[in-house]
Amino acid sequence: MPLVAQRSWVYPADNSGRFRTARQYFGWFLVLFFVSVPWIRIAGLPAALIDIPGRRLVLVGTIFTPHDTWALALLLLTAALGLFLFTSVMGRVWCGWACPQTVWLEFVYRPVERLFEGPAHRKRRRDRGDHDATWWAIKIGKWSSFVVLTALTTGVFMSWFVGGPQLLRGEIGASGLFVGGMLFILFLLDAVWFREQLCHFACPYARFQGVLMDANSLIVAYDAHRGEPRAKGKSRDEESGDCIECNRCVDVCPSGIDIREGDQLQCIACAGCVDACNDVMVRIGKPQNLIRYTTKRDAPAQQGESRPVFTRRTGVYVAFFCIVAAGLVIGLATRNEVAVQIARITDGQQYR
Ligand code: SF4
Ligand code: SF4
Repeated sequence: MPLVAQRSWVYPADNSGRFRTARQYFGWFLVLFFVSVPWIRIAGLPAALIDIPGRRLVLVGTIFTPHDTWALALLLLTAALGLFLFTSVMGRVWCGWACPQTVWLEFVYRPVERLFEGPAHRKRRRDRGDHDATWWAIKIGKWSSFVVLTALTTGVFMSWFVGGPQLLRGEIGASGLFVGGMLFILFLLDAVWFREQLCHFACPYARFQGVLMDANSLIVAYDAHRGEPRAKGKSRDEESGDCIECNRCVDVCPSGIDIREGDQLQCIACAGCVDACNDVMVRIGKPQNLIRYTTKRDAPAQQGESRPVFTRRTGVYVAFFCIVAAGLVIGLATRNEVAVQIARITDGQQYR
């Protein structure tokens, strides 16, 4: 038995539908947000800057120094509790809609890949055939574009740590250059090769989501009661369920899974399969939502029960979130704005 499993490449087909459109607009908004924030200045300071060498964090015109560790701790705690609360209610919606890895892969790299490779089925056929001159020409064109995109992506990431204007002026120092170079290699490897495997094997958030979610959390699920027994073509009869085994839901899945096999760790709740199946249902004149956003509690029967929005667990998260967030707000409102620090200025050092 081989020690290393063979990489199984995923070729998600193009897809359209209301969730896809909404994700696309939201994805573009997030890209714009990540790119623009390091360039925005509020009260003469960057809107956001994580200045590690300078040991300060700048957020919305406020500077946090090591003296404000309590504020940073409360901020991180608030963010963590917010994430727990969000996951408990919305499941893995973050992964499919807002995670930078998904946003960049789906809305930055994948469209460029489509330009060079064409639709997914053509790419799959080409990859499984001979690696001739055409194959190499297409790959070299695509990989060269990926190198440029990754350089820009690395620049966007670094600008959160050194500032947009500073990055443009090349003021990142030798250590910044080294970190940027390492990130560039990692980002490029992810875009060209690792891709959805990051969610499957490396992301810690994906690992502990199972603990945060319960039967009332939002998931994408297939209505087996309605869809089974599935049958296609001439094998269909009055007993057949609504699933016509077209496999469209599997073809479009960026994680390469079959949602009809039940809730799976690899599902990022992107709703690609929901759009795909709804399109099929419209074409065959059946009701939509054979696959849909639902909950584990509803999923087995999908009887359309209304799900409780606030369970005891979400109530506890909300309570802790409010307490910590209130502590943070009160602490910041009463914070002493004056801090005096005496330090020797060395040659070439300047205050950004
Ligand atoms: S897209 Fe819908 S009908 Fe087609 S295989 Fe998937 S669940 Fe069945
Ligand atoms: S199963 Fe559906 S919702 Fe889950 S990752 Fe695949 S396409 Fe997205």
